[in-house]
Amino acid sequence: MKIQIYGAGISGSYLYHLLSQNGFEVSIYDVRRSPDCRCAWGFSYSESRELYKEIGLNVDDYILSKPKFVVANGKFWFKNKEIVILDKKRIMNDLWEFELKDEGGDLIVDATGSSRAYLPKIENDAIYTTVQFVERHDLDENIYIYMVKTGYAWAFPLGDDLWHIGAGDLSRERALELVRSLRRTYEIDEVEGECNCVGKIRLLPPSKCRPIVWKNVYGVGEAIGCVSGAGEGNAPSLKCAKLFYDCLINDELESYERRVLKEFEWIEIEHEFVWAVQNNKKLKALRLLPKVVSIESKRSVEQSVETLKNLIRFLI
Ligand SMILES: Cc1cc2nc3c(=O)[nH]c(=O)nc-3n(C[C@H](O)[C@H](O)[C@H](O)COP(=O)(O)OP(=O)(O)OC[C@H]3O[C@@H](n4cnc5c(N)ncnc54)[C@H](O)[C@@H]3O)c2cc1C
Repeated sequence: MKIQIYGAGISGSYLYHLLSQNGFEVSIYDVRRSPDCRCAWGFSYSESRELYKEIGLNVDDYILSKPKFVVANGKFWFKNKEIVILDKKRIMNDLWEFELKDEGGDLIVDATGSSRAYLPKIENDAIYTTVQFVERHDLDENIYIYMVKTGYAWAFPLGDDLWHIGAGDLSRERALELVRSLRRTYEIDEVEGECNCVGKIRLLPPSKCRPIVWKNVYGVGEAIGCVSGAGEGNAPSLKCAKLFYDCLINDELESYERRVLKEFEWIEIEHEFVWAVQNNKKLKALRLLPKVVSIESKRSVEQSVETLKNLIRFLI
């Protein structure tokens, strides 16, 4: 059986190595000629380490920074447990040792992220725009966030005083406004950056990205909504690729869609929570809060229900 992967981003490049290292006939193709340089540097450490280990990649070799705290809106401090900033560009460069080939296959994998180029389009898709800058600043190595109901701005430490500053919201103008608010809140000056670009991110859970499988096309990663309510898509996309691989080797591809929906139930909950906050459904948001606390305290930061309640009061 011949497998063709479209999209050599986080999930596609990982899946390619899983398959080729285990004797599958596989090719990979990307519209880019060199790895995606979009700067998505934050990874959930334990999960990424376990998954990348499967293809012989040691994430410890790529750590740029381990931020101490995640600070939201200048007031809410969360102790970081799991988020590491990895040198994603170097990971992608090291994984892109393949030759890009578009040969087709018996089985097609759509790993094209927000493009979702091979699966049918999603009605009422939710694609957010992001803006990004890489700049030098002298700040403590925390993650700084400025959030509103529809999006947030961030500053991620990349080590050696280099910072990744960006924001995602419903439009470019709103994202730029969030960056300005972030700068005001944390006194981060606007300086000439070393790089700036725009990006896109799909913020819909897997249940709203169906079909996940269509004819002989199997979606993995962001193409099928493996991005949390907080915009975490790196480790979930890797996990999704691994799930696809497990189904394939166990001859269980017919259960792939069901297993994706089960595996990413936590993403469904987070999106429901975000929806409740965005739509002023305070009671619903408060009801979902303990679940979100429990999910995120495993994946990212230590937090108390009380701090999060204060954050919701602040947002709603
Ligand atoms: C600005 C920004 C910051 C982010 N920060 C974080 C973060 O800190 N932590 C985190 O966990 N997540 C973050 N995310 C989300 C995360 O980057 C994505 O969810 C993740 O990369 C999805 O992986 P993927 O493999 O599904 O898609 P991608 O990594 O986006 O890869 C898709 C690939 O498909 C290719 N492609 C597109 N169309 C076609 C086509 N027609 N044919 C062939 N190839 C095609 C693209 O060139 C790309 O290489 C961020 C996203 C953005 C936009």
